[in-house]
Amino acid sequence: VLHVDHVQGDPFAAPSRLCVEVDRRHAGLSAAVDPDDSARLGLEDFLGRSFARAIRRVVAPRRRSRGMGNSGLVEIDAGGQEVLERTAVVVFDEAVEIRFVVGLPARGRTVLGHQAARMLLEQVPQIVQQSLLARAVDQQALALHVRTVVDWTALRGQLRPHGLVAFVADGAVLPRRSGVDPQPLTGESVVPCCSPPELAVELELANGHSVRGMGIPDGVSLIVGGGFHGKSTLLDALALGIYPHIPGDGRERVVARDGVVKVRAEDGRRVAAVDISPFITDLPHSRDVRRFHSDDASGSTSQAANIVEALEMGADALLIDEDTSATNFMVRDRRMQQLVTKDQEPIVPFIDRVRGLHAVHRCSTVMVVGGCGDYFDVADRVIQMDQYQATDVTIRAAQIARQHPSGRADETRLPLASIVSRVPDPRSFDPSKGRRDVKIGARGLREILFGETVLELGALEQMVDPSQTRAIGELIHLYATEYLNRGEGLRSSLERMMSDLQSEGLDVATSHRVGNLALVRSFEVAAAINRMRTLSIEGQS
Ligand code: ADP
Ligand code: MG
Repeated sequence: VLHVDHVQGDPFAAPSRLCVEVDRRHAGLSAAVDPDDSARLGLEDFLGRSFARAIRRVVAPRRRSRGMGNSGLVEIDAGGQEVLERTAVVVFDEAVEIRFVVGLPARGRTVLGHQAARMLLEQVPQIVQQSLLARAVDQQALALHVRTVVDWTALRGQLRPHGLVAFVADGAVLPRRSGVDPQPLTGESVVPCCSPPELAVELELANGHSVRGMGIPDGVSLIVGGGFHGKSTLLDALALGIYPHIPGDGRERVVARDGVVKVRAEDGRRVAAVDISPFITDLPHSRDVRRFHSDDASGSTSQAANIVEALEMGADALLIDEDTSATNFMVRDRRMQQLVTKDQEPIVPFIDRVRGLHAVHRCSTVMVVGGCGDYFDVADRVIQMDQYQATDVTIRAAQIARQHPSGRADETRLPLASIVSRVPDPRSFDPSKGRRDVKIGARGLREILFGETVLELGALEQMVDPSQTRAIGELIHLYATEYLNRGEGLRSSLERMMSDLQSEGLDVATSHRVGNLALVRSFEVAAAINRMRTLSIEGQS
């Protein structure tokens, strides 16, 4: 059954939205299907990618309609290296729905009817036949795809019982082809992961087979090593370990707990009533650090706010890279402590808080430090990356710390207090623009247009797909209209929404059926809200 959900006004407008519904009995889904969530996720993802491949075959450039604008386009939101829950493919009990877009062909105001007929009556049916019907589906590839996601899920379930923040299986390939190409690096120079014996653990795949790899334990772990030896590559792989990856990616068996949040400095960001007092005490002009506001935060205050906001949402591990941190936020050494005395420096550096974060807030830290050995004093584990190989240098680092005391004085004055939950003011979320009551959109991966405001998400390194960006825009609106209650904190109200999404599916994010949204965590939704320049905070709960 072909549903036509929306027809575009002209060839330059957003393309028309279609949906194909295939009865489960006709679709090529045999043994791989069961109600288990991760298997369904793998299946949906596989079907979307098969559909995309069929589009490329059937609508090859020379066969594409020659109208203006988007004429002749057929497109599905199939995704990149990560496997995300998407609205593009939904497997229901009875049927499979595939949502995609077509650019109906036209030249100016003239409809190209014959070409439209060919698209809708020949190309679309061929695409469906080649990707969804039983005889076309590559059952072996489907089984591998589903197994990859199911195994990833099984591994992730074992992290917490084993006291692990993350796990990197032996043989995993972490480096990417380039800074703009997320496909795996190939060639002889690639060094696959191999756990040092001290950190090696065995976890079980879904079928009971065990897999060896490096376990990053709870507590404070440092990743040290020379420049260009693979430190950031490892940390970035851990950051994206919150998502399953497609077969062949190299990171199929890299898993991180769902509460892992990568934080960084982000000067210029907006901050609304965040209690940054764990890291920043008195500021010039006695600005309130318990309800810190800024339209233009500094490197250190932005990094402090990013950490406190992550804790507010329940982060249980932070990932921090020196490459993207404010140096003065990370550490003040002995000499600087003597020159600029404590009463002249409002920052309590992270090095003096990292242990407390674990002891008080049960939040672990994994950080890349190539430049500052003072951190040896506060580390449980020190992993050295040497020529892309991990080694455990914990004992040696502890010896060095004893031989060469840093001479630093601890700068904390007060112990860590509990993190408060802020209550947003509902008037912060006005989606209207001009004559339209609701105008929400996304520009690429990094920007959301919400009413009159532009939201910058460039610092959210765990977002991987523009469909997630679009979803956040919709979810902020859903949150403001359905979930934001007077007096309820950001975390509890957002978590109610996310748990409804889990059970009812991402379709509830929009009033009409769309195929271009992908799931995000509550951390990313909160992070987007926190960056709204219109956000005001009513109080605390
Ligand atoms: P660091 O943070 O230690 O300075 P990076 O993680 O940025 O180093 O890595 C430096 C370069 O090495 C990058 O171009 C990256 O793609 C490459 N690289 C990282 N890990 C590996 C590996 N295991 N095998 C081959 N190349 C790698
Ligand atoms: Mg680096």
